[in-house]
Amino acid sequence: MGQENLAVILHGGAGRFNPQVTPHKLPFLRQALDAAWTKLVEGAPGGVAVEAALRVMEACEYFNAGYGGYPNVHGVVLLDVGLMSGSREFVSLLNVRRVKYPSSVALDMMTRHKTLMTVWTHELMQSIDNASEEVKERYGWVPRHEDLLAPLVKEMLEDRTRSEVSGHGTVGCVVRDRDGRLFSGTSTGGVNLKYNGRIGDSPIIGSGVFADNEICGLSTTGHGESFMRSLLSGFIVSEIRQRLRENRECFVRDGKCLHTILAHEVDEMARKSDGRGGAIIVIPVQGEPSYAFNTEMVSLAMKFGTATDVRADRAFIQLSTGERIEEST
Ligand code: ASP
Repeated sequence: MGQENLAVILHGGAGRFNPQVTPHKLPFLRQALDAAWTKLVEGAPGGVAVEAALRVMEACEYFNAGYGGYPNVHGVVLLDVGLMSGSREFVSLLNVRRVKYPSSVALDMMTRHKTLMTVWTHELMQSIDNASEEVKERYGWVPRHEDLLAPLVKEMLEDRTRSEVSGHGTVGCVVRDRDGRLFSGTSTGGVNLKYNGRIGDSPIIGSGVFADNEICGLSTTGHGESFMRSLLSGFIVSEIRQRLRENRECFVRDGKCLHTILAHEVDEMARKSDGRGGAIIVIPVQGEPSYAFNTEMVSLAMKFGTATDVRADRAFIQLSTGERIEEST
């Protein structure tokens, strides 16, 4: 396997389309895409590429992750993040506090622990409060909860009508590196004004995030309870595995096949969840990335090919009407 297999797909949330907010995501989707791609071309492992993309979006107030994450019912931004490698190591961190880059904390934990699912403990917070300036900077440490509340989010909170139309802005990224290995990550503030302690699908391995080098990598965004109770990601992984067993080349030969699987399962989720849902992005072990969604819009970026022969390279907002808002050049 060589560089021809490089692939990145990322999302910056799915939900309602807000003409005042949603298009502003485009330059950051582009920046995140380029950040991940550059790492892959340099030969970095997938985790480093995913982290690079997630950090761009976690730092930006237009996305519901890191700085700009939605607060819970008490006004506190509690973040959730899940990272998984295709060799099936993972870190899932729940209720992360006072850091802009939960994906970097998770990646460093993965290096140390390999596999861990944990809530954000008092000890963890203390260890970062007492860490060196270098570590604090890497994690985007802030002294107060309020420091993660972006002006845009505060405005949305003051104007609940506007918050209704803001759409979700969870961020996710899946990559395939030059050795054909997959890596996925999802980072979120969860739903706006969530019940204190509520956890959605985003950090849940096998739901909001999953990777297996023999099958696929994926990340989701949308109504977490619907993703979890419909087992959307589980059914998709199972279907992809079955197709690959029948023909390992199937997704290379038929570019539409993966999309058909995703679209069908997203419809099933909506049927079982009163029409609710969101979006899923997937990279199969071989073949092009794909996505499906059932919301008014999803924000996306993808690139694949080789360092010198890129076959797709775009950041866009896809609307359910079929219209696509592209980057301005
Ligand atoms: N899936 C996330 C959650 O339920 C929210 C989102 O994707 O916007 O926490």
